[in-house]
Amino acid sequence: MSQASFDVIVIGEGVSGLAAAGMLASSKLNVATMEAQLFGGLVINVNELEPGVQDKPASGAELAAEMMQANAEAGVTSIQEPVTSLSIADTGCTVVTETGTHVSRHVLIASGARLKKLGIPGESEYEGRGVSQCADCDGPMYQNEDVVVVGGGDSALQESLVLARYCRRVHLVHRRAEFRGALHFLEEVRRNDKISIVPNATIDAITGSQMVEKARIRYSDGRTEERACAGVFAYIGLEPNVDFVPPEVKRDDRGFIITDDQLLSSTPRVSAIGAVRSGYKGTLNDAIAEARSAAALITQRLVG
Ligand code: NAP
Repeated sequence: MSQASFDVIVIGEGVSGLAAAGMLASSKLNVATMEAQLFGGLVINVNELEPGVQDKPASGAELAAEMMQANAEAGVTSIQEPVTSLSIADTGCTVVTETGTHVSRHVLIASGARLKKLGIPGESEYEGRGVSQCADCDGPMYQNEDVVVVGGGDSALQESLVLARYCRRVHLVHRRAEFRGALHFLEEVRRNDKISIVPNATIDAITGSQMVEKARIRYSDGRTEERACAGVFAYIGLEPNVDFVPPEVKRDDRGFIITDDQLLSSTPRVSAIGAVRSGYKGTLNDAIAEARSAAALITQRLVG
């Protein structure tokens, strides 16, 4: 097993982790980033970035690639391996990956979150054959087809609007009558005549042959109905990527890491930013702002 030593290890190469790593490296700290999957995190699914993230319009994938390149030039070591454990001592932190043990003075957890699954029959069987969680990437495959979207938050509303650009009809199935997503998204959804809202319902099975053909809608009064569709997109919230996080790093009841106003966790050598953090607001601008704050605090602690 290889062994390496850094000032700061940033776990996660999503936008928040990449931004923080770049800022830390610019303060002459020896920084490593670690990533279990492809760099970029959830942003690589975004075709058009929200205003203010970059000077020129770019996709999420382009933004992530530019940040990786800038970090490499600033001397950040990128380790493309999943973190299997993190241990914290008074003297420093030890981060174990599949092939190496790495020590650092501080760890910044920016491991993000993943979209939750429905956990219903047919969901995993039809993954990539009609079941998707990326409207931007897969939407164009559903030209003039009917699709079902599940959820009532910003993601479900926003992604329904994306899918309505391509699909014949989007059935937006939500378990309540009120939506928690932003009013401006909801108003746009209501104005879109390709989107039908199916309130007080969820889906409990996905069926088909080679590809998805139907979703079974279950209403809160117990009635069920088979709805013909070629695609099912669930946007029912996020769960944090925290499998490696030890119990002394305190988390909220949904598993997200609790931080103080300086983005420090319950242990002083570990900070957390972005979607893995309890209270994260969810936009890319928030991710970058948190990266900036955490990097400034860590630099102040390590460099003085
Ligand atoms: P979310 O806000 O947690 O909403 C999840 C939705 O799924 C809720 O409506 C919830 O219903 C429903 N749900 C949860 N579990 C379910 C289940 N098992 N079956 C059926 N429905 C279920 O998640 P999100 O929409 O992904 O948003 C996550 C965060 O990112 C939020 O902070 C959001 O504001 C942010 N975000 C922002 C933007 C933007 O500003 N452009 C875009 C996307 C996301 P209930 O309402 O009944 O709980």
